[in-house]
Amino acid sequence: MSVIKLDHVSYVYSKGTPFEKVAVNDVNVEIEKGEFVGVIGHTGSGKSTLVQHLNALLQPTSGKVYIDGEDMWDDPKQVRKFRFKVGLVFQYPEYQLFEETIYKDVAFGPTNMGLSEQEVDERVRHATAMVGIDPADLEKSPFELSGGQKRRVAIAGVMAMRPEVLVLDEPTAGLDPMGRELILGQIREYHRETGSTILLVSHSMEDIANYAGKALVMNDGSLYMYDDVEKVFSHQKEIAEMGLSVPQVARIFTRLAEKGYPVNPNVFRVEDA
Ligand code: ADP
Repeated sequence: MSVIKLDHVSYVYSKGTPFEKVAVNDVNVEIEKGEFVGVIGHTGSGKSTLVQHLNALLQPTSGKVYIDGEDMWDDPKQVRKFRFKVGLVFQYPEYQLFEETIYKDVAFGPTNMGLSEQEVDERVRHATAMVGIDPADLEKSPFELSGGQKRRVAIAGVMAMRPEVLVLDEPTAGLDPMGRELILGQIREYHRETGSTILLVSHSMEDIANYAGKALVMNDGSLYMYDDVEKVFSHQKEIAEMGLSVPQVARIFTRLAEKGYPVNPNVFRVEDA
């Protein structure tokens, strides 16, 4: 059984006003447990809107969202439980840090789940270690940290809830290459260790090619494609039309071809890279 199923999901902002905007248009998709899915598409294609449906932050204007086969909005009073099953790391999550210590910030989610103090403590230590926060720093204020460290604390706060599905919306936005690699590596490690399903929203096709197993491509509110990364990237012309530069495509194709995927790296000359 799929962990996530979207059944004819549409979302319309400002419905019935002159500003009405169909941000998600009749999306049908099923995501299997344990997948690492890259969510890609142009700015404004509906990626953020789509993923906010997965932890009930948005209710579809029409259609249904199923988590583990359960209709999320069947009983709106029960919707809270899906927020524990599906953890969402927003864009720029560091702006949501608010406690006086790193420890308390990471403990906030697990405490709200009603776990024992001991279990919360274990989870805080494990999640912070996973994102590379020094245990000696746990009593520090999160506001003393660098931008990249703050972001990692915010991500640890969601990981500490051990959601079955972890959704991250552009978790590397605004970070330097080292900070990006660090966070993506930690997400990969979390995926390996927990077997959770990961949805990673990114505008970087390279990151998706490097980290994800599947790619979900949004285009103008619609689901354009959902398939293995190498299959998605083998749609060379369409991918190039989605605004990816030729050097980027060439690098990705060269790498995929080296791994034995059936792509034709010569479509884009590698010397261009
Ligand atoms: P992406 O994450 O792919 O950049 P979004 O889901 O943020 O796309 O946006 C999809 C569309 O919905 C865009 O046209 C955007 O302008 C519009 N949109 C996003 N948020 C809102 C909002 N709060 N009110 C009205 N329109 C919105």
